[in-house]
Amino acid sequence: MFWLKRKDENSHIELSPDIPNTTHCAMGLSIDLEAEREHIVIGEMEDIYRHLAGIPGATDKLLVNETRPLGKLVEDFFDTCTMRAKDAATGFWPETINTRPDLLIGGAQFVEEVYQSDNLLWRFLALRLWQEYRAVWDQPDSIEIHDRMDEITYPMRISHKSQIETWDKVYIYSNLYNFLSMDYFRYPAYVMYQNAKPLRVYHVTDLSGMPLYIHYLNTVYTKRAFFQYCKRCGKLFIANTNKVQSFCSDECRKAQQKENRKRYSDKVEDDEAEKDYRATYMYWYNRMKKLRQSSEIDPEKLAELEATFEQFRNEATKRKNEVQHSGQSTGAFKGWLFSQRGVFDGLTESLSI
Ligand SMILES: [Zn+2]
Repeated sequence: MFWLKRKDENSHIELSPDIPNTTHCAMGLSIDLEAEREHIVIGEMEDIYRHLAGIPGATDKLLVNETRPLGKLVEDFFDTCTMRAKDAATGFWPETINTRPDLLIGGAQFVEEVYQSDNLLWRFLALRLWQEYRAVWDQPDSIEIHDRMDEITYPMRISHKSQIETWDKVYIYSNLYNFLSMDYFRYPAYVMYQNAKPLRVYHVTDLSGMPLYIHYLNTVYTKRAFFQYCKRCGKLFIANTNKVQSFCSDECRKAQQKENRKRYSDKVEDDEAEKDYRATYMYWYNRMKKLRQSSEIDPEKLAELEATFEQFRNEATKRKNEVQHSGQSTGAFKGWLFSQRGVFDGLTESLSI
């Protein structure tokens, strides 16, 4: 619970967002390309250090300790909430309590909501912003404080996505720096190791998400792997090439094949000439089937009918192609098909079918 007294009035603002209070929170990232997993820890820096050192009980104190598919954190970076993050940063200026208490309350709602989300970058930044506010709320307002609030929210306010889309088209590894603005290089990260086999390296930040983002891109591209968007579901995934657009999983590949087949048969369904042809073909086919099964029919007569049926199929296919591809009239084709039924009826008149 956090009570604040406004200077000019005797009123209070009660702020108690549902988010842990931290004093030095940090976020650590470890990338495992072999296993195609990323591992993320969020918590007090001290708890992260103790966890990595393997001190018993430390892991339970972490706020986040998650292993996820490779690329997930990059997806988290792609989400933006520019205006809300900007308002929240302003809402946490010490002076805001006197000038715009609505923004302060909005800021508290924002960190609470974002901390509940499954975007791990946002969860860390919400903790970090709330921590910053609790550290400075009773200090004199200053440009330094404003800048710090902006620095924390920066990764949620800019579109990283639009940049990576450009890279996919023109990417050359040695040119990575060409596509990143200076702000990406401004913030430091710690390098920490997990006391385990294998010795796992973590990049840890206690301020901005930016160095983790660069580290991610650098790791992926150095291994000659590339970010791609799945052709089917649009999900970001790591592919071995950037030349051919591909699928994120076997499920997506199979689902796409299935859809392509369905689309083909739908198209055939829609085609009127095809439909007319099929109707007449089935008219012949069903009667031929009966005749083939009949013991009463003279084999020579049946052979003659089979030959006529085949001629019909060849001629009909040729005419159908002319309608579909050379712009011949559908009406004339329909009329011809109808006349063919008459031909067949004439040939089988004396037979009982
Ligand atoms: Zn997919």
